[in-house]
Amino acid sequence: MRATTVLKKLLGLGPAVVVRSWELVESRAEVERPRLVVSVRTKAGRRGRCGRCGEISPWFDRGDGQRSWRHVDVGYATCELVADAPRVRCRTHGPTVAEVPWARHDSAFSRAFEDLVVHDAVVANKQAAAERYAISWRAVNNACVRVATEALGRVDLLEGLVAVAIDEVKYKKGQRYLTVVCDQFTGRVVWAAKGRTKAVVGEFFDALGSERAAALAFVSCDGAEWIRTVVAERAPRAIVCLDTFHVISWATDALDEVRRGEWNALRRSGGAKAAKALKGLRFLLLRNWENLTGAQRSVIRELDRVNRRLLRAWQLKEELREIFGLPLLAARRALDDWLAYASRSRLAPFVKLARTIRAYRSSIEATIEWRLTNGIAESNNAAIGRLRTNARGFHDPEAFITMIMLDRAGIAPRIPSAPAA
Ligand SMILES: [Zn+2]
Repeated sequence: MRATTVLKKLLGLGPAVVVRSWELVESRAEVERPRLVVSVRTKAGRRGRCGRCGEISPWFDRGDGQRSWRHVDVGYATCELVADAPRVRCRTHGPTVAEVPWARHDSAFSRAFEDLVVHDAVVANKQAAAERYAISWRAVNNACVRVATEALGRVDLLEGLVAVAIDEVKYKKGQRYLTVVCDQFTGRVVWAAKGRTKAVVGEFFDALGSERAAALAFVSCDGAEWIRTVVAERAPRAIVCLDTFHVISWATDALDEVRRGEWNALRRSGGAKAAKALKGLRFLLLRNWENLTGAQRSVIRELDRVNRRLLRAWQLKEELREIFGLPLLAARRALDDWLAYASRSRLAPFVKLARTIRAYRSSIEATIEWRLTNGIAESNNAAIGRLRTNARGFHDPEAFITMIMLDRAGIAPRIPSAPAA
C-alpha cells in the first residue's frame, strides 16, 4: 500500500479528497510537537460549489492562495491540511471561497477536528476543550456556533410535534431566564430563546406556524400565566397539562417551609438542640422515600415522637407524589382525600398548596390521564443545570442556547468513537 493511501485512511479524508503530498516537519524545541503537513485537493468532479450554500458556481479567482486547516492529531504529531482556496461566483453570495469536503465554511479547522472540539465543549466545557487542543476559548466558541448553526439548518426540530413542555431556565443570577420548549415524546429540546414573557412564548408559536400549532395535542407547563394565556390563544385545541415535576417541587417547597417554621419556633422557645437536629433534616425530608437508606427511614419514623407537624408535612408530600402514579379514577379519589386532608392540616404552606392545586386541578388530571409524567422536563432541567455549572455560568444567553441545543436537541456531532445512535 502506498504511503499516501495509508495516510488518507489514517486521516479519514473520504473519497472526495486527493492527497497530493505530505511532509513531516520535525519539532525544533523540546516542548514542540512534530507537524504532519498534508497537501490535499478536492477531486476534480466535485469542485466549483459555493462555500456558503453549496450551489454549483463558475470559477471566480484564486482567492488568497493556499490555506491551511488544523486536522485531528496523528499520534504525537499535530496535523495540518493545506490546499488552494479559490473563489467561485455564487448567484446568491457573490465571490465566495469554494466549498471543500474536509472543512466547514470560514473555519480554520477540519470538520473532524472541529467535531472533537465541540464534543469536548459539550461534555466538559469550552475551557477544557481549549486546553485539550491548545486552541483559544474563542476558537472553541466559534466552532460550537458553526456546528450548531449547520445542524439546525439541516433539520426542522419543530416538525411533527404532538406534545411539548414549555419551561423556564435560569441562565444568570438576577432573574435572567430563557424559555425552553421540549418534545415530550423524544425528550429533545426543540426551541429556546431569551426571556420569559408572553412575547417569547408567542415567538415560539410564530416559528411553529398555525398549522403545526393546531396539531399540538398536549402542552405541559407549570402554573405560569405567561405561558398559559398564550397557549390558550395560539393552540386552543391542546390539552394543557401541569408537569408532575412542578407539582412535586411545590410540595417540597411547602415541606421545607414547614420545617423552617418548626425550627424557628423551637429556637425561640429555647430548644436549641432540637432546632439544630431539624436543620440537619432538610436534605433527608426532600428526598424521595425509595431513595432513603434504612437508617434514614428510621429518622423519618422517629418524627412521630419528635415533631408530628413535620411528619404530617412529609406525609403530605409523599402522598402527593404517589397520586401521580395511580390510574385516573383512583388518582381522582386520592386527590379529593389529599385536598381535604391538606386543607385541614393546620400547616399553612399546605393549606395554601391545596388552594393552588384546586385551581390547576383539570391540568393535573390531564397529566395523570395522559401519562405525561415521564420526568422529561426534570431531566432536561438537570442536564441544562449541569451545562451551566460546567461553564461556571453564561454571560451571553445566545451562547447558552447554542450549548443547550448541541447537547439536548440531539444535534451534537457524531464522533468516530461514539456508539451508533
Ligand atoms: Zn452561495
